[in-house]
Amino acid sequence: MNRLALEKIEYIIKKSRRRTISVQISSDCRLIIKAPLFTTTSEVESFLKEKRDWIKKQLERTRAQSQLASSLGILSEKEIRKLKRDAKKIIPQRVEHYAKLSGITYNRIFIRLQKSRWGSCSAEGNLNFNALLALMPLEVLDSVVVHELCHRRHMNHSNAFYDEVLKIFPDYKKWDKWLKQNGVAYQLRVGE
Ligand SMILES: [Zn+2]
Repeated sequence: MNRLALEKIEYIIKKSRRRTISVQISSDCRLIIKAPLFTTTSEVESFLKEKRDWIKKQLERTRAQSQLASSLGILSEKEIRKLKRDAKKIIPQRVEHYAKLSGITYNRIFIRLQKSRWGSCSAEGNLNFNALLALMPLEVLDSVVVHELCHRRHMNHSNAFYDEVLKIFPDYKKWDKWLKQNGVAYQLRVGE
């Protein structure tokens, strides 16, 4: 039984007027359980048992991300200035490349250093990208560029949207997964 592994993990229960139990993992690898007011400890435990595989996977991922972040270190002001310069050079080049390839048009490109999003596309056709992408493998940047460009044709995440993405960038799933596994570590490098 793998249960012992879970029992060693600290968790915090936050009770409130809600109907269901849910679990989140904080960036410092603690479990935060949100539960209805009258939930018993054994109900929480059996919920945790049920979610055990998911929790273990998420914890491993969070641990790996924070390890990667601390091995990479917090970006200094100088590094951030360089990163922004590099990002403003390379990101528009990749956008133009894929825009030409796909025949998709866009309006303006904005590049910011962000702790949350990787990219977005506005109704006006403006594309926003996180400067941190310039630190990652080029394929990761390309996957985000193609994703945002394809929102010019589909403002949703429908099958038609992903068909379009895969047509332009067949390796999309692989690099999107890479971003999900490693992205947080890069965001942690931005510091407070
Ligand atoms: Zn999207």
